[in-house]
Amino acid sequence: MSRRKSGGGYGGQAGSGARKHSGRGTGAGAAAKTREDAPFQKNEEVTVDIIGLTHDGEGVGRANGFTLFIQGALPGEQVRAKVMKVKKQYGYARLEERLIESKDRIAPPCDIFDKCGGCQLQHFDYSAQLEWKRQHVIDSLTRIGKLRVAGEAGANGEEAGGIVVHSTVGMEDPWRYRNKAQVPVGASGGAGGELIAGFYARGSHRIIDMDDCLIQHDRNDEVVRAVKTIGRELGISSYDEESGKGLLRHVMARTGFVTGEIMVVLVTNGRKLPQADEWIARIREALPGVKSIVQNVNMKDTNAVFGDETRVLWGSEVIYDELDGIRFAISARSFYQVNPVQTVELYRKTVEYAGLTGVESVIDAYCGIGTISLFLARQAGRVYGVEIVPEAIEDAKSNAELNGIANATFEAGPAEIVIPRWREEGVIADVIVVDPPRKGCDPALLDTILKMKPERVVYVSCNPSTLARDLRLLEDGGYRTMEVTPVDMFPWTVHVECCSLLVRKDN
Ligand code: SAH
Repeated sequence: MSRRKSGGGYGGQAGSGARKHSGRGTGAGAAAKTREDAPFQKNEEVTVDIIGLTHDGEGVGRANGFTLFIQGALPGEQVRAKVMKVKKQYGYARLEERLIESKDRIAPPCDIFDKCGGCQLQHFDYSAQLEWKRQHVIDSLTRIGKLRVAGEAGANGEEAGGIVVHSTVGMEDPWRYRNKAQVPVGASGGAGGELIAGFYARGSHRIIDMDDCLIQHDRNDEVVRAVKTIGRELGISSYDEESGKGLLRHVMARTGFVTGEIMVVLVTNGRKLPQADEWIARIREALPGVKSIVQNVNMKDTNAVFGDETRVLWGSEVIYDELDGIRFAISARSFYQVNPVQTVELYRKTVEYAGLTGVESVIDAYCGIGTISLFLARQAGRVYGVEIVPEAIEDAKSNAELNGIANATFEAGPAEIVIPRWREEGVIADVIVVDPPRKGCDPALLDTILKMKPERVVYVSCNPSTLARDLRLLEDGGYRTMEVTPVDMFPWTVHVECCSLLVRKDN
């Protein structure tokens, strides 16, 4: 099973699968030169002080000058652990007993936290988690970006002051926050068994059945339970990764928090959905709020959830939801932030950082269905949105119309190609907002930003590492990072979202 390393967890979060550690920033590497020199042998029991948490949420332990990664251990703890794997400069150990416990340790409220790949930090007090996320951002900015953060040691050539990294904006009630569940379907006990749907066990693609997820909106859990029951009653087969046989691969449920509208997507390994009418009738009966039932066809041997073909089985092609009084149509394949409560916080911060007075020309790169664009448009002169997924741009255009917003225009295509062309066509940007996927901005886009010289750049990022890398490039090109606000979009997971403000140094 080499091609499927990383577990996905319930709800499509990037899971904590098997992975390599670079050892960077963890203090690894001081002691051993070769595996034979490592101070430990496999299966040895050791006492370890935990000095940090990796970006995947594993405890970073130090013993005899050697680094051991220990799942489930928290900073400040001392643990007894069994060495499982020894590499040249670091190793992995299994937690056996906590000798000294962190004051921030809590009992994980979910009973399957140990097995599930979805959450990584349910054993960590929420406010400590928020502080850890802020520190993780600071560490990325200083180590990867070689940026100076106000109040932190290790300044590197920047002018006095440094970037103000604010406290992480947390949730008052950090549970049941997700509006989207993306759940793999399998069979209990392997191919041919009873239909199950749930989550990938941590670090694998073994599906474990589950009916209730504490970070998921109740209605999404309801959808998944209903689809599972209906699938069992109709005798539907589940997709088997090994053989490539079987029909149902994933269930996706999306709920509009404000509108209560529900979309159900059945991802199938094949175009034909046997007993389609029966499916539709039973889903509608079980879930009165359902507005849209969609089939997506994915016949490829791939980790990607969706295939290219999507068709509406019943109802509308989209569901609607609202953020801060703006209404959005969302189709099955479009990106829409999964935590609507915190999305409003993030977008308000983005608009604040854009510093608009009603006349500015603003570019929103990686705009999705135009969510940030429309928030900006309420306070700007003109907004130009660009996004690579054509369906999302269709949604963005109808969303502008739906809200009577006439000063936003949208174009489908790669930001790094469309924006340079806009520049040649004479488009001027006072502010450029970017909100790229995890891999960060394309270098060609960063280069174009430097050429267009907007007064401000607002960088919204879901990955502190690529954020730090890109901020360094923008700093070298004449911008100064003023402020960074982490916003907790994914409580109990290791994910960190940030909103950053950059201004031109010559201003
Ligand atoms: N700002 C939006 C979407 C952010 S997610 C929101 O908050 O909802 C990042 C988006 O970038 C996704 O919609 C993805 O489809 C899009 N994307 C990925 N690569 C891109 C590229 N090269 N050019 C433009 N958009 C891209």
